[in-house]
Amino acid sequence: MSADFKGMDVVSIRDFSREQIEHVLKLADKMVPIAKGDERSVLLEGHVLGSLFYEPSTRTRLSFDAAMTRLGGRVLGFDQPTGASVAKGETLADTIRMVSAYSDVIVLRHPQEGAARLAAHFSDKPIINAGDGAGQHPTQTMLDLFTIQKAKKDLEGINVVIVGDLKYGRTVHSLSEALAMFGAELTFVAPPTLQIPKEHLKQIESMGHKPRQSASLHEVIKDADVLYVTRIQKERFPDPAEYKKVAGTYRIDLELLKDVKKDLIIMHPLPRVGEISPEVDSTPHAKYFEQAFNGVPVRMALLSLVLGGHR
Ligand code: ASP
Repeated sequence: MSADFKGMDVVSIRDFSREQIEHVLKLADKMVPIAKGDERSVLLEGHVLGSLFYEPSTRTRLSFDAAMTRLGGRVLGFDQPTGASVAKGETLADTIRMVSAYSDVIVLRHPQEGAARLAAHFSDKPIINAGDGAGQHPTQTMLDLFTIQKAKKDLEGINVVIVGDLKYGRTVHSLSEALAMFGAELTFVAPPTLQIPKEHLKQIESMGHKPRQSASLHEVIKDADVLYVTRIQKERFPDPAEYKKVAGTYRIDLELLKDVKKDLIIMHPLPRVGEISPEVDSTPHAKYFEQAFNGVPVRMALLSLVLGGHR
């Protein structure tokens, strides 16, 4: 299996088969003690990760850093383009050519959809997409699946309600397709202007699914096994007035959770900006902080696979 991964770009969740994703998740499970710092590893000693973040990030960047460092590797790069030659007008292609000469794998976050695919074209080292505009966020999806699997064991037939900004939310684009691949039932809840784009709906339907769509969370939350909450992606709206119309549409609080299933889990890729009331944090439903931690073992698994350090 490692031969399938070595040198592989991680651009879209569509690049992966179900078996490949399962392989990553299994390996991630073995990485947990190292991710927690309970065990030491030098698996990626001598390897360098180029970390290029053209957009803000907390969890994705730091968990990639933690993953590489915990496996004995090193990290170089930038966390905002203003300090790099990008500010002088350097193209993405040129920056990628350089960084691929300085490192063994590149993690890229960029505001433009398609940027990671373009970077893969110019890099002779593997590119890992850490979010390309409103496009995809495949490594987030793997840690989301890991989190769901830990709580629910089998994904087949579970009812996942995804709420918020389904139009611009890249985490949703990757996750919904992967969940369909794993046989989960999907319900999309969003204001009509922010519903899931046709392209993703078609892909999901082509796998034999008929997702439900609604604007009302109240209507569908009672049957949910997983509630995946997302932030309205303010930075992607061409018109701030349009953002204002939909900001604050959904808020998860104790009142809303009164009649939910006992073992409902609530997830969020974070950052949250008011979608989940802090009073929910101490309920057994809240899984978002555990989910954020899971970024470390999952990214360890991916890095070790694309660098050929693991079978
Ligand atoms: N952190 C996630 C992302 O980069 C979710 C978000 O920003 O709302 O896509």
